[in-house]
Amino acid sequence: MKRLTLRRAVRRLPKSERASHTPRTTEESQFRIHNSEFRIHTSYRVGIGNDLHRLAAGRKLILGGVHIPFDKGPVGHSDGDALIHAICDALLGAAALGDVGQHFPDTAPAWHDASSLIFLRQVGRLLAAAGYKIVNIDSTVGLEKPKLAPHIPRMVKKIAAVLHLKPSQVSLKAKTGEGLGAIGRGEAVRADAVALIQTIEP
Ligand code: MG
Repeated sequence: MKRLTLRRAVRRLPKSERASHTPRTTEESQFRIHNSEFRIHTSYRVGIGNDLHRLAAGRKLILGGVHIPFDKGPVGHSDGDALIHAICDALLGAAALGDVGQHFPDTAPAWHDASSLIFLRQVGRLLAAAGYKIVNIDSTVGLEKPKLAPHIPRMVKKIAAVLHLKPSQVSLKAKTGEGLGAIGRGEAVRADAVALIQTIEP
């Protein structure tokens, strides 16, 4: 629920009711704003996404649109940016608009070695066109090596810029696999993301 300013709320009322709703003092105005008669409906939706890519020698390690120097990188049709793919799925999921594979199929020659930031930009546009704005994104990358911490601020900045968000609306954490499973053995990179979106006020 979002509060309207009292003046705007009163303007939305039928003419005959406006006078009785126009407050005479500031206190009365505040009192009315804090009461539910001038609230309009805003709906929130949440989405989840994850992605896993095998790591192989001779591939560039790209995460969050940032090139991280390392001797292995994700195998994929595009640049294999697992973090961006997980965020795209979280955003699309929140809006019930399908998933990243459906919008950017790995059989399409156009996406061969493509920067996944193109997908993210397009997903941002799809959401805006459907009447949503992004509230925040939270994400985690699972990678044994190299250490991601020094790169996180740049990754956050890049993701936020593509989606026209403030960096404070994008959160990214990094975790190792503690030597266990495909992540721990350094065979794969995994990313998980959640996104909260809200309807844009008319
Ligand atoms: Mg992927």
